[in-house]
Amino acid sequence: MAGLRGNWDDGGDTSTGGAALEGTTGETPTLESYRDATIEQVAATALASIRKEAVKVEVPGNREDRRFRRTIDEAVYDLEHGMTPHSAGRAVAELDQEIEIWFDRRRDRVRERDQELSSVIASMGTALKALKGDDNSFHGGLDQHLDRLRKAADNVQMRSVSARLTRILDATATQVATQREASEARIRSLSDLVRGLHQQLDETKAQMERDALTGLFNRGSFDLRLEQELRTARLSPYTFSLIMIDLDHFKVVNDSYGHIGGDRVLQACAQALQAVVMSETDFCARYGGEEMAIILSGTNVQNAARIAEAVRARLERTDIQTGAALHRQTASFGVSEGCEEDQAEDLINRADSCLYLAKQHGRNRVVVAGEGVGKRIRLPESLLK
Ligand code: GH3
Ligand code: MG
Ligand code: MG
Repeated sequence: MAGLRGNWDDGGDTSTGGAALEGTTGETPTLESYRDATIEQVAATALASIRKEAVKVEVPGNREDRRFRRTIDEAVYDLEHGMTPHSAGRAVAELDQEIEIWFDRRRDRVRERDQELSSVIASMGTALKALKGDDNSFHGGLDQHLDRLRKAADNVQMRSVSARLTRILDATATQVATQREASEARIRSLSDLVRGLHQQLDETKAQMERDALTGLFNRGSFDLRLEQELRTARLSPYTFSLIMIDLDHFKVVNDSYGHIGGDRVLQACAQALQAVVMSETDFCARYGGEEMAIILSGTNVQNAARIAEAVRARLERTDIQTGAALHRQTASFGVSEGCEEDQAEDLINRADSCLYLAKQHGRNRVVVAGEGVGKRIRLPESLLK
C-alpha cells in the first residue's frame, strides 16, 4: 500500500461502518490509498473531510440567510445605539419572531439535508464500486459526492450560528429589561421630585399672598386685586364694591387680654368674616393692624351693604375665647362702589370716610357711600336705630 500510512481502524466511525483514510502527511488521502480501501473506509474519509469543512463554513451565503443576518445586525445595532426601553422591547420582539420563522425553515431544511446525507452515504458503496478501476472518473465522482456532502454540512454549521444568535438575544433581552427598570425608577424619582417642588411652590405662593396671623390675604394681594378690579371696570360696564372694616376699641382688647389674647380675637374676627363671605369671587384681606377689607366682584353697593351688615351681625353675636374670659368683638364698616374713573386710593378714601362716620355715630354699624361716589354719605337704617 504505497503512500498509505496503513492505519485502518476497524473500530472507527460507526455511522459509516469504517475508519477514515489518511494521507502520509495526515491530510487528504491520495488517490492511491483509495484504490485499496473498502467502501466503508472511503465513506468514513468523506465524512471526516465534511466535518473538517463544516468547521470552516461561515454563515451560508444564500439570500435568505443574508437577509436574516442583516436583520440580526440591524437589530443588534438598534439595541446598542440610542434605544429607548420601548423601541428595544419592540426590536427584541421582532427579532424573536424573525428567529422563530428562521428556525422553522432551518429545521425543515436540516431534516431534508440529513436525509440527503444518509442517502448519499448509503449510495457511496454503489458509486465507488462503479468508479473503481478508472482513476479520473473515480476522483471526479468522489469530488462530486464531497460537494453535495459539504452543502449538507452547511446546515450543521447553521445550528451553531443559531445557538450563538440565541445567546446574543438572551443577553440583549436581559440588558433591555435592566435598562427599562432603571429608567422607570429614574422617572419615578423625578416625578416625586417634581411633585415635591410643586408643593413647595404652592406653599411659598400661599405664604406670599396670605397674612400669617389670620390666614386672610395680605395687603400686597389686596392692592393687586383692587387694581385688577379697577382695570376691569375701565374696560367694560362692571360693578364691584369695597368694604373697609375696623375693629372697635381694640386697644382695650389688648389692654385687657394682652397681645396674645388680642391676636386670638383678630383670628376669630377673620373666621367670622370668612364664614359670611364664602363666594370664591369675594376677597377678604387683612388691610393692616386690626383693619380688614373685603372686595366684592360684580357686586353693587346695595348688595355690598347687605353683606357688611351680615358680617357685623355675626361678629356681634360671636363668643370669642380669650384665655379665661369670653369676649364679644364689634366692628365698624365703610362701604363704597368702584367706578371707572377711580384710582385705588379714591375708592379706599370713600370707604374710609364712611368708616369714620360709623365710628363717629357710635361704632358697631355700617355706613354706605351713596351713588354720588363719595359726595353723599347715606346712613343705613341700622345706623339710625
Ligand atoms: P377704634 O374703635 O376707634 O378703632 O379704637 P381702637 O382702639 O381700635 O383704635 P385703633 O383702631 O387706632 O387701634 C388699633 C390697635 O390695634 C392698636 C394696636 O395695638 C392694635 N393692633 C394692631 N395690630 C395688632 C395685632 O396684630 N395684634 C394685636 N394684638 N393688636 C394689634
Ligand atoms: Mg384701626
Ligand atoms: Mg380700631
